Amino acid sequence: MFEKVLIANRGEVALRIHRACREMGIKTVAVHSEADADAMHVRLADEAVCIGPARSTDSYLNMSAIISAAHITGADAIHPGFGFLSESADFAEMVEEHGITFIGPRPEIMRQMGDKITAREASIKAGLPVVPGSPALESVEHAIEWAHKIGYPVIVKAKDGGGGKGMKTAFNDEEMKEAYTMAKAEAKNAFTSDVVYMEKYLQKPRHIEMQVLADNYGNVVHLGERDCSIQRNHQKVIEETPSPALNQKQREEIGEIARHAAEVLGYNNAGTMEFLYEDGKFYFLEMNTRLQVEHPITEAISGIDIVKEQIRIASGAQLGYSQKDIQFNGHAIECRINAEDPETFAPWPGKITEWHAPGGLGVRVDSEIYSGYKIPPFYDSMIAKLIVHGKTRNAALMRLRRALEEFVIEGVKTTIPLHQEIISQTDFIDGQYNIHWLEKFMNSKQSAK
Ligand code: ADP
Repeated sequence: MFEKVLIANRGEVALRIHRACREMGIKTVAVHSEADADAMHVRLADEAVCIGPARSTDSYLNMSAIISAAHITGADAIHPGFGFLSESADFAEMVEEHGITFIGPRPEIMRQMGDKITAREASIKAGLPVVPGSPALESVEHAIEWAHKIGYPVIVKAKDGGGGKGMKTAFNDEEMKEAYTMAKAEAKNAFTSDVVYMEKYLQKPRHIEMQVLADNYGNVVHLGERDCSIQRNHQKVIEETPSPALNQKQREEIGEIARHAAEVLGYNNAGTMEFLYEDGKFYFLEMNTRLQVEHPITEAISGIDIVKEQIRIASGAQLGYSQKDIQFNGHAIECRINAEDPETFAPWPGKITEWHAPGGLGVRVDSEIYSGYKIPPFYDSMIAKLIVHGKTRNAALMRLRRALEEFVIEGVKTTIPLHQEIISQTDFIDGQYNIHWLEKFMNSKQSAK
């Protein structure tokens, strides 16, 4: 087992990894930007190294600074968390070249799955059902030709896309001209490549994803699904497991398809296969080769600590259990709480003057916040994840309502009021929602004003 792990991240996920390491008797090294010297992960870690100025490109994305920090402190492994360098195959390779273990999948599989076009090809071979789509598009004319083959509406996507960027829908040829140009321009700005392709645009799907765990010896299990359909701008807001849309048979079927595909792909460590689900059918979207923000809901119902498993697997341990050993218990829901205006979603950094997190049975709060902490304006606005677990969906919902009521965060605006509103809507209570539900709800609120 590792003696010392460097955590190449910040915020609640840095803390999450620190906690797993601590419980495994592993020492931790925090890295931080100049803006994060007061952060909780820095305070709790055994050692901390400042790796650069506030801008992420100069700090959390600065590969050589992070590797130097690992050398100086004698860390034998690096956990990348999510976001930042977590899906960079180049970083994973660089880490391994320096004789340090990267806690994640092999760089080759990261590279294959990080490119949406090669990922689609590999996934079809591995037996995953995918959305009808095109190869890389060469021109507007080529795009229109493919749109006719697939049939409108379609969605143009960046091959290197992530975080919901570089995606544009088109319902006809006229819109396609704009969608193609805009997606390409956005991709050029945000990613290393401006190559785009297209997929059939599903109009009322749910987003359902499968968590898999695989060791370095070909043993693979799935840990069930997560329904992440409550989204805004293609970004998840609330997640739950199990999905209210699936029955046991569908759940087992898609679970086995995902498990088997991970086996065929030769996948290792933790990963998530994202699907859209419409009219009883699944369509594979992409695989995230890292820990997901919403992993705690799976931990709640499976009793498996996914971060500890990532570390164990990276250190060369065998999974040690098989699919039949995994039991799911109850229902879990997560709310992502952001420091944002709940109406306009404008980021709201600043000083937390008062902080009281809810507690009690079945309530988990993952957050880096403490009273007096100043949220810097440079990073993602998520400041806490509230996860509740109950015997049934209804019990989890009642608990979520209670926990949100107890939560006190003062000094900045947060999205807590929005969560309270969402979970009191009949559609949400009935589990009747798709990926467009939240945006429709926000629009109807706007027009009611
Ligand atoms: P990213 O890598 O940027 O997160 P994804 O491919 O995972 O992009 O898609 C993110 C979200 O965009 C999905 O959860 C869904 O809401 C929407 N989306 C993506 N592809 C499609 C599609 N073919 N049809 C309808 N919605 C889609």
